Amino acid sequence: MRPAAETLDGLDRAAITAWLREREEAAFEVLWARADDVRRERVGDAVHLRGLIEISNYCVRKCVYCGIAACAGPLPRYRMTRDEILACARKGRDLGFGTLVLQGGEDPGMTGPFVADVVRAITRETGAAVTLSLGERSDADLRAWRDAGAERYLLRFETTDPVLYRRIHPDLPGTVSDRIAQLVRMRDMGYEIGTGVMVGIPGQTWDSLANDIWTSREYDMDMIGIGPYLASPDTPLAGPLRDELMAPPDRQVPNDELTTLKALALTRLVCPDTNIPSTTALSILDPSAGRAHGLTRGANVVMPNLTPPEYRVLYQIYPGKAAVHETVDDLAHSVIALIDRLGRTVGSGPGSALGRG
Ligand code: SAM
Repeated sequence: MRPAAETLDGLDRAAITAWLREREEAAFEVLWARADDVRRERVGDAVHLRGLIEISNYCVRKCVYCGIAACAGPLPRYRMTRDEILACARKGRDLGFGTLVLQGGEDPGMTGPFVADVVRAITRETGAAVTLSLGERSDADLRAWRDAGAERYLLRFETTDPVLYRRIHPDLPGTVSDRIAQLVRMRDMGYEIGTGVMVGIPGQTWDSLANDIWTSREYDMDMIGIGPYLASPDTPLAGPLRDELMAPPDRQVPNDELTTLKALALTRLVCPDTNIPSTTALSILDPSAGRAHGLTRGANVVMPNLTPPEYRVLYQIYPGKAAVHETVDDLAHSVIALIDRLGRTVGSGPGSALGRG
C-alpha cells in the first residue's frame, strides 16, 4: 500500500529510520515527489555549479576507505602549482562557475601561506566564491584562509557513530579527530559549512544513518553531501577489515543507489533550505541516470571536475571516478545539458545557502 505523503511531515529520527528501511516501491514515488517539491519550493529550480579542483593527492590521514589515504597505494602523488591551480580557476570562470572548490588530501605540503595566497589570487582574478576542502587543519590556517577570502569549507563528518568513526578514520598521533567540533569552530570564523556522509560504509546501521541525517539538521549545515561508499582497491576496507566491521545483515545499510537516494531525499525534507549536491559517487553507481536521479530527488548542486586529466587520474578516491577520457569542457557541457533536459536552470552567482548570491 502506498503510504500517505503526510507521514513525511514533521519527520523525527525514528520516522527517518523507518523511511530508510522502507521496501515498498510505491512508497519511493511518494518520497521522491515530496523531496522534489520541497526542493523547488525552498531552493528553486536553479542548479548551482561548483567547479572542483583537486589540488593535491598527498594525505597524512589513514582513512581506511579512501583511495588517496596515506595507507592506500601504491600511488604516484602530485601537488599542483600555483599557476596550475589558477589556470583551472580561470577555466571555471570562463565556464561561468560562481564557486570554485579547492579539494585535496590532508597535505601539510599545501602550507597555510601557500593556500592563502592562492585563495587571494583566485578571488581577485575570477570573482568566484572559494570553497576549501582540505581536511582537518589548524585553526590558525583556517582563520588565515578565511581572512584571505575563502567563504566556505567542506568537511564531511562521515558518520556520527563514534566507535565506527574511530575505526574508519584513525586519529593522527597525539591528536583527537573531531570533525563536528571543527565545523562549529569554522562557522564561528564566518565560514559557511558543508558536511556529509558516505552511505553504506561497512558497520553503518540504519539507526546511525538516520542519526547522521538528523545531526545535519541539528547543526543547520549549509551544504550536505550524501554519496554511496564505493570500495576502493588497495585500501584496508577492501580487505578483511570489511567483514570485521560489517553489521548484521538486518542492520547493515547497503551502499546502493536506492538507499543513497532515500538518504538524499530525506535530507532535503529535514534540511529544506540547505544545498545538496548530486554527487559524483552517485553517478559512478549509475552512470546513465545517477546524477539525474539525485537532481530530481532533492539535490540542487553539481560539482563538475576542473582538474586536468593527468592529475584527475591520480585522485582516485574510489574506482571509476576520474572520467579520464573526458575533457573539462566535455564534463561541464554534459552537466549543463542535463540541467537543461530536466527543465532546470543553471544557477548564477555563488549560490549561497545564506542567500548571498
Ligand atoms: N581530505 C579532505 C577530507 O578528508 O575532508 C577532502 C578529500 S576526501 C577524499 C573527500 C571525501 O571523499 C571524504 O570526505 C569521503 O566522504 C569521500 N570518500 C573517500 N573515500 C571514499 C570512498 N571509497 N567511497 C565514497 N566516498 C569516499
